[in-house]
Amino acid sequence: MAKKLVIIGWGFWGLRTFYNLAWNKNFDITLIDPRTTSSMKPTMPEVAFQGKDVEETRFDLKSVIEWKGAKFINEAVIKIDADNNKLTTNNKTEISYDYLVVTAGAKKNFTAIKGLEEHGYSMCDDIHAPKLWKALENFKWGKITIGSAKSTFDSSRVDIPNWIAPCEGPIGEAMFMIHRYLKEKGLREKTEMNVFTPGDVFFEDIGDDVRWAVGGLMWKRKINLLMEKVTTEVTSDSIKFEDGTEVESDLTIMIPVYFGQKFLVDSGLADKVGLLPTDKSMRHLDYKNIFGAGDLNTITMPKLGHLAVMQADIVSAQLRKEVGENIEIPEYKPEVMCIMWMGHNEAAIVLSDIKLGWKKDIVWYGQWQGFTKKMFDYYNISTNGKMPPKIGEHMFKKSIEIFGMWKK
Ligand SMILES: Cc1cc2nc3c(=O)[nH]c(=O)nc-3n(C[C@H](O)[C@H](O)[C@H](O)COP(=O)(O)OP(=O)(O)OC[C@H]3O[C@@H](n4cnc5c(N)ncnc54)[C@H](O)[C@@H]3O)c2cc1C
Repeated sequence: MAKKLVIIGWGFWGLRTFYNLAWNKNFDITLIDPRTTSSMKPTMPEVAFQGKDVEETRFDLKSVIEWKGAKFINEAVIKIDADNNKLTTNNKTEISYDYLVVTAGAKKNFTAIKGLEEHGYSMCDDIHAPKLWKALENFKWGKITIGSAKSTFDSSRVDIPNWIAPCEGPIGEAMFMIHRYLKEKGLREKTEMNVFTPGDVFFEDIGDDVRWAVGGLMWKRKINLLMEKVTTEVTSDSIKFEDGTEVESDLTIMIPVYFGQKFLVDSGLADKVGLLPTDKSMRHLDYKNIFGAGDLNTITMPKLGHLAVMQADIVSAQLRKEVGENIEIPEYKPEVMCIMWMGHNEAAIVLSDIKLGWKKDIVWYGQWQGFTKKMFDYYNISTNGKMPPKIGEHMFKKSIEIFGMWKK
């Protein structure tokens, strides 16, 4: 009999798991999500800084899921009873499972910093990104400040890097895209742009080669960088930091504090910050039939869609092995791979694993790279959230290694 597989959340990772297993007769799949449309976060900078219609970044997944024979429940999970293999939703629906895949993403806590929700802006989701575009359109001249809040992670049960700003790529996109937007509007000379990081370096997850290259692009564009700035408050005209300094700011843009999910805390499955601790095969440390990955997994560092997809492939292979299929389980070898959109058809592609114990540290920047980002987004949206085939990813990586600037 088919095993009951329940997937919580259809972000990057949940979708990849679903597409990997949708036609597999060994699984009877149920997907639960309070949203009815997708939320592809990598497209949010285009909404926030180029005015792309947010509807163009969403697609309806219910029909895709049901067409493939799976069940979709449009509710939010509020509790998991891991000892009895069942969960409860906000509508008090009870669902039992043989295997549970938790891919509900990390929450961004907009209230953790005083004044942020009221006076600040963010490109992190499809609610905040359109608001930010309106604010940018109304911006005339002055000072713009962009940066990340400090997040804390729990390394007591797993081995993770001690990073406090786990996804600064969108900050890079924000500063380059805003620079381009203001230039086209003739406002750049009238605007001071400051970027800050809570870390002792900007982009903790990449090596010095890439950092220097990005630093050079910032220097050319007269974008200032402030380091070790931990935000304590955002006001209508400034941003305040833990070290007592204050920077005037007419438009403040931030990635808020990362936090896990309350339902995991309430279920006794979370680490100290609400994330799900797993081993490198993405199995929960205490419950072997519960898998967790994507931003929600404690070991996902940095918090990248690329890692979420890698983890989904590991989980899918493990589940297939569990039901008796003869399949090799891929090794988890995290790396940073992302395309930083810079506006005006330009992008910087980063491939780096030097801070994760390996050797690569490559950046490759230009218009062709911008074209690949457009192609990726087009493929992803037009296929209802699928990733390009493995062979495409392999060739993409090879071309970065051959043509990019890199260090051994
Ligand atoms: C602006 C921005 C740009 C980015 N750009 C890139 C990029 O270029 N490349 C890259 O690799 N990464 C990028 N990232 C990171 C990437 O978007 C995330 O790592 C990725 O979205 C994580 O996927 P996920 O499946 O873990 O979570 P999510 O994508 O957050 O999806 C979680 C899903 O779970 C659902 N959910 C939440 N709570 C519940 C509940 N209680 N019950 C049921 N369902 C629930 C949500 O509705 C959602 O659909 C970017 C992030 C941001 C913010």
